[in-house]
Amino acid sequence: MDLYEHQARQLFAEHGIVVPNAEVTDSAKEAREIARRLGGRAVVKAQVKTGGRGKAGGVKLAADPAAAELTARQMLGMRIKGHMVGKVMLAQPVDIDREFYVSYVLDRAAGRFLAIASAEGGMEIEEVAAARPEAVARIPVDPAEGVTSAKATEIADAAGLPPQTVDVLVRLWQVLVREDALLVEVNPLVRTARGDIVALDGKVTLDDNARFRQARWGADDDEDQDPLEAAAAARGLTYVRLDGEVGVIGNGAGLVMSTLDAVAGCGARPADFLDIGGGASAQVMADGLTVILSDPAVKSVLVNVFGGITACDAVAEGIVAAVDRIRLTKPLVVRLDGNSAARGRAILAERAHPLVEQVTTMDGAARRAADLATTA
Ligand code: GDP
Ligand code: MN
Repeated sequence: MDLYEHQARQLFAEHGIVVPNAEVTDSAKEAREIARRLGGRAVVKAQVKTGGRGKAGGVKLAADPAAAELTARQMLGMRIKGHMVGKVMLAQPVDIDREFYVSYVLDRAAGRFLAIASAEGGMEIEEVAAARPEAVARIPVDPAEGVTSAKATEIADAAGLPPQTVDVLVRLWQVLVREDALLVEVNPLVRTARGDIVALDGKVTLDDNARFRQARWGADDDEDQDPLEAAAAARGLTYVRLDGEVGVIGNGAGLVMSTLDAVAGCGARPADFLDIGGGASAQVMADGLTVILSDPAVKSVLVNVFGGITACDAVAEGIVAAVDRIRLTKPLVVRLDGNSAARGRAILAERAHPLVEQVTTMDGAARRAADLATTA
């Protein structure tokens, strides 16, 4: 889960990294009040989970509260790389002497972290990294050792950062460890005209596997999130929206991916997919079908389950309970195989719902679901 800039800056502040005074709002009128509180001038910053806001018009200096209101009004509701701006942050402007880049990122292949730092931070960091890779230092960090003062000094020296940044490098590592982050990035980390080191922007990606330890972030509050994906996540299901016409429900990531391929191989396109994982209770099935069927793009639904720990008779009971509970309006093609497949098939046959049909092979079921979707 990515955090918004204003959330990242909150974490930085809690760990003793200096950030400019700032407040967040979804109202242009309130933006004027915030600018007044900040002293009149303010940097208005779109809160979207994507980089490059500055170049896209999502970071603007307002000279007075009236200008802040106007700028906030223009920014709220605009789209930056597909992300709708729902909130703006107003920050006290900082007099910049120099801009640096610092980040820690998980290096999965190497089984450790990487400190990336440059004395040439700011909006052009990608260009700098591409044109002159030697201007960007990359120092491996052993997660068991972490970033001590000595390690931070090594990073700062390699990147040509001034010694005052060492303290921030140590604290930024503490943000990563204590907040269960996979990535922390500050660009720019600035030296102000007065010589202070201030984090002007922040990006933090939290490890979803540690969500239970970071309860304060709650469910993903991403306003950009697809409403059906959010509804599925709220029910503990993995749902991904695609742009075709066949809804796909399966158990296990591998089988679901194969099912998507099988549908595509039949000339149809998956509308979305739902992985019900190991749980195929009536409730999970009903929830899953409800989510899939509420997508108007779905013309037919393909349920492809290979019974393992979850037996097919339980899945069949789930489907029967689900079609009885929700009013089924679109054809459902079911393929059950594996553990207790014969009993599962018998349960569905006995219910004999007019819109539910069974096919015994995955390819056959995909073919049938594709045909139903394209002739619907
Ligand atoms: P990004 O484009 O999404 O990375 O947004 P940033 O928050 O990094 O802002 C982009 C650029 O705006 C920074 O690199 C700075 O050069 C500039 N900027 C942001 N805040 C301030 C500020 O308080 N004072 C000054 N002078 N420039 C700022
Ligand atoms: Mn930035």
